Amino acid sequence: MPGFRAHLIIAALVGAVICVALYYLGSSPSSLFLPFTVFALSSLVPDVDSPTSKPRHAVRLLILGVLISITFLIYPTLASVSVFLPFIFLIGFFLVLDQLIPPHRGVFHSIIAVIFWGIILFAATGNAIIGVFAAAGYGLHLLIDFAF
Ligand SMILES: [Zn+2]
Repeated sequence: MPGFRAHLIIAALVGAVICVALYYLGSSPSSLFLPFTVFALSSLVPDVDSPTSKPRHAVRLLILGVLISITFLIYPTLASVSVFLPFIFLIGFFLVLDQLIPPHRGVFHSIIAVIFWGIILFAATGNAIIGVFAAAGYGLHLLIDFAF
């Protein structure tokens, strides 16, 4: 099973080949930098469901940061009920949210996820090229997992 480094290297190589091809078809190098970056990073996203992956650790840190921020915002309300309630809130929600991530090679490793990822990036950026590169990078990850 290819790991983080293998997925990143293969995605960077495939992304570079695609960008060189687009360059020779008339695209400017500066217009290809963001699609290349999105392609390479999108190839790392599917392993967010792997318990030991770097994307999973990044998502966990993000969730923890958001929960700590929320806890600070509502701390007076929680602490007025009990001094332990802010800590129970923080730990409890973190454990619940962590359990909501599906099992490895589940829904995050599916064609539906490829399409959904492309739509999310297209909706977030308003750029169809970014959406296509995001979906292609995500799909490359699935192809690599399938091949090895
Ligand atoms: Zn994978």
